[in-house]
Order: sequence, then structure tokens, then C-alpha cells
Amino acid sequence: MKYDVIVLGGGPGGYLAAERLAAEKLKVVLIEKAEVGGTCLNIGCIPTKTLLNSAKLYAHARDSAAFGIEAEGVRVNWPRVVAWKEEVVSRLRRGLELSLKKGGIEILRGQGRLTGPHSVAVDTSTGEHLPLEGDSIIVATGSSPIIPPIPGAQGNPAVLDSTGMLALQEVPQRLCIIGGGVIGVEFASLFSSLGSKVTVIEMLNEIVPVMDKQMAMMLRNALKQVTFTLGAKVTSIEGQRVLYEGAGGEKGAVEADVILMAVGRKANTEGWGARDIGLEIKNRAVATDAHQRTNLPGIWAIGDVTGKSQLAHAAYRMAEVAAADILASLKGERSAQEFVPETVPWALFSLPEAAGVGYTEQEARAKGYDVDVVRTPYGVSGRFIAENGFSSPGSVKIIFEKDSQRILGVHMLGAYASEHIWGAALAIERKLPLSALRTMVFPHPTVSEVIREAAWSAHE
Ligand SMILES: Cc1cc2nc3c(=O)[nH]c(=O)nc-3n(C[C@H](O)[C@H](O)[C@H](O)COP(=O)(O)OP(=O)(O)OC[C@H]3O[C@@H](n4cnc5c(N)ncnc54)[C@H](O)[C@@H]3O)c2cc1C
Repeated sequence: MKYDVIVLGGGPGGYLAAERLAAEKLKVVLIEKAEVGGTCLNIGCIPTKTLLNSAKLYAHARDSAAFGIEAEGVRVNWPRVVAWKEEVVSRLRRGLELSLKKGGIEILRGQGRLTGPHSVAVDTSTGEHLPLEGDSIIVATGSSPIIPPIPGAQGNPAVLDSTGMLALQEVPQRLCIIGGGVIGVEFASLFSSLGSKVTVIEMLNEIVPVMDKQMAMMLRNALKQVTFTLGAKVTSIEGQRVLYEGAGGEKGAVEADVILMAVGRKANTEGWGARDIGLEIKNRAVATDAHQRTNLPGIWAIGDVTGKSQLAHAAYRMAEVAAADILASLKGERSAQEFVPETVPWALFSLPEAAGVGYTEQEARAKGYDVDVVRTPYGVSGRFIAENGFSSPGSVKIIFEKDSQRILGVHMLGAYASEHIWGAALAIERKLPLSALRTMVFPHPTVSEVIREAAWSAHE
């Protein structure tokens, strides 16, 4: 069978690329070995955010007396929480499948394997072996959790990855999380809010490396119910006991009913013929240029498999950049669109939320910028106080270049941070100075006004 474009992998990167190209009347096939929607929809972004919202509702209901609402008998019905999560995921997946089909995209269920720069073989879920040909191929095979070779981890029923956590039958009484990155902290926040005793063991001296250090410390302090053990390396796991060693050689142990291994994810570069056809793999990911082209003409790669970012919206953007480049290449041109990692915002949906875009203060200084910063508490926002009280943590930090006042980074901690970080991303993408945030009108009363307040509090 012959196609204009073959897309390998039906996650956010793959399905968006397919949609964009099919909309331009190209004949597109999307190959998926598991579920359309990929990690994000099925076992990542959407299920975790659905669970976190249930945890937020529980915390609000439990703590609502200060706001004049007295609720009695508030309790967690875990099977119902899980059922709601499954309903959200399956309905969204059905909607996605429908919209892909409506868009004229052929969905082929099965395991795909590149056999050349323009050919893919598929072992379908119905047992067929189909050879496909395509003018262009987009690889979007995603990433998988890393299970490090810690003695006692492999084959231990108490040790789960993020997917295993989504299938828990009950809220664990004691949860130990190995790794204090985004995924580890989201699960820590989720289960500590639901009543688990949570310990996070992190090898580095601060949690969430993507965060500005000062903001990460504030987040750690805000997650009061969670015990963080920093600068400690897990040396082994004995059944339900996690043994670790601190930087100074001091030893410790944590007993837990469930142990979440959240030390990172690796690009899926194996099992689909990358090496056989000579695709360049660099730093354990498929190497791509700013247009998402690989070293082989006719093959593009996008999303987690490229190692450029492990975020769904970064995969979306890479999909659009690759699609634009494919369309341009049909006319013998080169697309002007590029993927710029520095402009990709991130969000952490813990309670409280955190989000950021651009450089942290530490990164900006390391890059040699003459840096100035301004930090404003969320307490300047009337809406924030009304909804969260006077003692809730929240802060925005803007990092900018002293002379030009160009905004280099914006980092936020507090309610709705994930919802308004896009405005900061726009400012960074457009290389705007602080003054642009001062003259822009923000709706009142909203939490987003803290960004404008922060911009005004900086000295020109
Ligand atoms: C617990 C968790 C929470 C997350 N939360 C967020 C969040 O809140 N926000 C955010 O932006 N990101 C989040 N992420 C990350 C996000 O899920 C990924 O960045 C995103 O899914 C990457 O998209 P992708 O298209 O590159 O790959 P994936 O979504 O991983 O999709 C790849 C697809 O390719 C298929 N595939 C692989 N090989 C083959 C083959 N040979 N043949 C056929 N099919 C194949 C796989 O089955 C999979 O469906 C989270 C991840 C996890 C694990």
C-alpha cells in the first residue's frame, strides 16, 4: 500500500502530525500498537490530572469550613475516583479516534518497523504482515519509564512505574517515591492529599530540576505532608524496604506498601528498525534538526523519541514543525518553522501548581546574562486570597536582562499557574521586554494579575 505520509506512533506527536497533514489532503496512515492518544491520553497527562482534580476536590471539601462551608463525612471513594478517571480517558479516546477518522486518516493497529527510508512493515493486531510505502515517514514512538538496575527493584511486586500507579486498587497507606522530578512530585502531591504517608527520595539537592531553585524550595515547603529526603541515593530495595545512602555516607531506610520508581523516561529507539536503516541515534534519542528532520531524507522524528522534551505540547509543536516541513518539501522548499525548546512552557499539576518558561535564574546567570529578578507573592491578587486564604503559598518570579529588560524566564507557584503560563511563553517567544507586561491589560480580579504586578515592581 502506498501513502503520502506514514506516521509511526499515535500519541500527541503522531496524531497531531497526521491531522495537520490529512487536512492538506495528503493520504496519511497512523500506525499504533497500543491505544491512540499514546502515553499522554491513556497513561500520562489526562489520567493523572483527573486523579489530581479528585484529590483537589477532597482537600477543598475537607478544608472548606474556613470559607463558611461545612461538609461532614467527606471521604475518598477510591474505586469511584478510578472509575471517573477511566471514563474521562475512554471518552476522550473515542472522541479522538472519531475525529481522526473524520479527518480521513487511516488508523492501522499493529507494530510498525521501518525497513527503509520510504518503507514500513506492519504486524497488525489481526495477524497480518503489511508492507507499506510512503513518500514521507514521521517517527513518533514516544518514551518509556526507566527501571534502574537497583538491586531488588526488578520483579519486585511492590515496585511500580507510573502506569502501575494508575491501576492501584486502593490508596496506599505508605508510599515511597524514588525520584523527585515532575512525575514523582505529582504522585507525591496526589497521594499525600488523599491521606498516604509519602516519602520522596531524590539524589539531587533539590526537587524538580526544571524549576528555578528558589521556586522549587518553595514548592517543597508547600507540600507539607510529604517527607523529602534529598541528596540521597537508593542503594537497594529489600521487599518493601527502600535503603538509601546520603552524600556523607549516612544510611537510611523507608518502609512502604508501594514504591514508585520515577527516575525518568527513556526514548523508544528500539524495536522499530532505527539502527537497521541507519537512522542516527544521539544521546539515546533520534537525532533531529530544528525542522525535525533526521539524518535520512524522507524521515522526520517528533515528540519524546527525539529527547528534546518530554512534554505533550512540545510533541504537538514538533508535529506542526515537521508537518510544515513535509508540505514545504513537496514544493522543493524548506519550511521557515523551527522547534525552539526554550519557548516551551512546563507545568506541574501538584497542589499547589507550578509552571515556568524560559531560563531559571541559575540558567540565565550560567549563560552569562547580566540578570535581574523580581518576585511577587500571589497575595497581591484579591481573587487568590478570596479562594485560597491568607497563608496559601504562591509566587511569581520574573528573570530579565538588566539593560534591555528582555524577559528571560517566568516561574510561578500557586493556583492556576498552569493556565496563565502561556502568556509568559508568548512574551519569551516574542523576546518582549518587561514593559510589555506593564502596558498589557489583565482582567480583574484574576490571579494572572500577579504577572503584571511583578512587572511593575521591577526597577527600570
Ligand atoms: C505519568 C505521566 C504524566 C504526564 N503528564 C504530563 C502532563 O501533564 N503534561 C505534559 O505535557 N506531558 C505529560 N506527560 C508526558 C507526555 O505524556 C509525553 O510527553 C507525550 O505523551 C509524548 O508524546 P509522543 O507522541 O512523543 O509519544 P507517546 O505519547 O508516548 O506515544 C507514542 C505512541 O507510539 C506507539 N508506538 C511506539 N512504538 C511503536 C511501533 N513500533 N509501532 C506502532 N506504535 C508504536 C506507542 O504505543 C504510543 O502510543 C506525562 C507522562 C507521564 C508518564
